Amino acid sequence: MTELKIQPAPHVTSILAIAAHPDDIESWCAGTLAQSIDAGSTVRLVLVTSGDKGSSDPMMDRDRLAKIREGEATRAAQALGITDVHFLRHEDGDVEDTRALRGELVEWIRRWRPQVVFTHDPVWLLPPYLAHRDHRIVGRVTLDAIYPATRDPLSFSEHLASGLIPHAVEQVWLFASAQADTFVDSVRDSIARSRCDSPMRARPLIPRNSLPIGVSVRQRSVQWLPCHLQNHS
Ligand SMILES: [Zn+2]
Repeated sequence: MTELKIQPAPHVTSILAIAAHPDDIESWCAGTLAQSIDAGSTVRLVLVTSGDKGSSDPMMDRDRLAKIREGEATRAAQALGITDVHFLRHEDGDVEDTRALRGELVEWIRRWRPQVVFTHDPVWLLPPYLAHRDHRIVGRVTLDAIYPATRDPLSFSEHLASGLIPHAVEQVWLFASAQADTFVDSVRDSIARSRCDSPMRARPLIPRNSLPIGVSVRQRSVQWLPCHLQNHS
């Protein structure tokens, strides 16, 4: 049986969260990121899609929905204290594991140079068997981008012309994991942000399952990613 740990959110200079859709961060790790921001970390966000199919309204169209959801994500990020949000605008529900997407993620990791990256757990998805395919693919491509592509100068070497040099991420936190072994007690941080944001907030910042322990993350990289990167960089 997996041993559960409760620990504080990471406190480093720079954190990048990479998620499939607007509201994924708010659903899974907003409280954890709020703790990191309060401790002095700079947190940035890349959203691979703009959630342009996430509506059951028959009168809605994709362009209008994307604008609405980008606005929501931007305002939620501002309320949390996230400094930058970048939308890659891939098609919602049709994200694919391509070299092009991997290159885009490598580019933004090299640009913002985070020590810690947050993304979806692509292997043990939550809920099991029912998780959105974009979550699985974005988590997988993000891990492939971090290691080894972002670190190695011969991978996506065209970035050098833009001044983007290789970068070794030290740690990855995987959220929405069905086998989370590390938890951050962040409910108070989420609620505090939720209250201050309430006049303009369209979606709750509190995790969907707002249990006493708020957001779970799987910290698989603690075992393998940091030492692997340091040994080869
Ligand atoms: Zn999602």
